[in-house]
Amino acid sequence: MKATVMYGAGDVRVENVPDAQIKESTDALVVVTRAAICGSDLWPFKGMKPSDVGNRMGHEFIGIVEAVGKDVRKIKVGDLVAAPFAWSDGTCEFCQEGLHTSCLHGGFWGGTKLDGGQGEAVRVPQADGTLYPLSVGRDDSLMPSLLTLTDVMATGHHAAISAKVGPGKIAAVVGGGAVGLCGVIAAKRLGAEQIIFLDRHADRIALAKEFGATDIVSERGDAAIERVLALTNGLGAHSVLECVGYEESTRTAMSIARAGGAVGRVGVPQDERMPVAMPTFFRNVTIAGGPAPARAYIEELLPDVLEGRIEPGRVFDWAGGLDQVPDGYRAMDDRKAIKAIIEF
Ligand SMILES: [Zn+2]
Repeated sequence: MKATVMYGAGDVRVENVPDAQIKESTDALVVVTRAAICGSDLWPFKGMKPSDVGNRMGHEFIGIVEAVGKDVRKIKVGDLVAAPFAWSDGTCEFCQEGLHTSCLHGGFWGGTKLDGGQGEAVRVPQADGTLYPLSVGRDDSLMPSLLTLTDVMATGHHAAISAKVGPGKIAAVVGGGAVGLCGVIAAKRLGAEQIIFLDRHADRIALAKEFGATDIVSERGDAAIERVLALTNGLGAHSVLECVGYEESTRTAMSIARAGGAVGRVGVPQDERMPVAMPTFFRNVTIAGGPAPARAYIEELLPDVLEGRIEPGRVFDWAGGLDQVPDGYRAMDDRKAIKAIIEF
């Protein structure tokens, strides 16, 4: 079968790999029908040290179950299923608490040991706990939005939940990639009255406004902080969604949270240190967030997608087949595309 393998910075290839196959009795074999390229796939694309074996790529996918191991009970051959960006057993202490990303028997796709979603098929461990069956056809028009539930929409929602967005509150979204845009959708969905979107790219700003952003801040650094304060009577936002992970964006997010407010961090931190520690301490700012338990959120978000109340699939502005995956990486890295969908 063919799959995407990253060998180093800027060196991503689609090549022949061993066929995915069931190894454990709790596995399923899924033939991929849609996959996505994630903003976090760009981290190794920018900076991975050269590797001879390479890393299999992709952690957002939907597909059809082709086979199941003998201990798989809930998932059936022929099911169309969504696979969250982490796999999990669905039964351990953390899964029962809804924190599937900390599953005691779970893990993440790709790398050197597991298949990735940007390939023709995937061996799915812990199939019953991991996969979420969808009740639509494989080429349903809602497929792009359904695909976002495997990561970006769940992650934007997690940022909003962690930042305690609620009715009447002021939310600020730092970073306008696909996750930040989904953060705008999530903030609106949870009732935020004012949604301040911090980004400078015209295509993202246009989409953010359609998703519900009420104010745009295109400045950066101290100027951005001043603008947000000016938009909030000098007090800052109740709920800040940090959707980037860089030092500067984290500094901005921490600095615009009002006293008693909360920052929901979903951008993977690129720095060991936490900026603005002292002021956020004295303002009693809650700092929360982490990898979204997408498996737990699918259930909550799915009805809104199926009934058309939210359209997170609009973040996809680039589409291609498996052979075009390297072009998709370049388009996203060059900021010519917000997010790429791969159609099989
Ligand atoms: Zn678990």
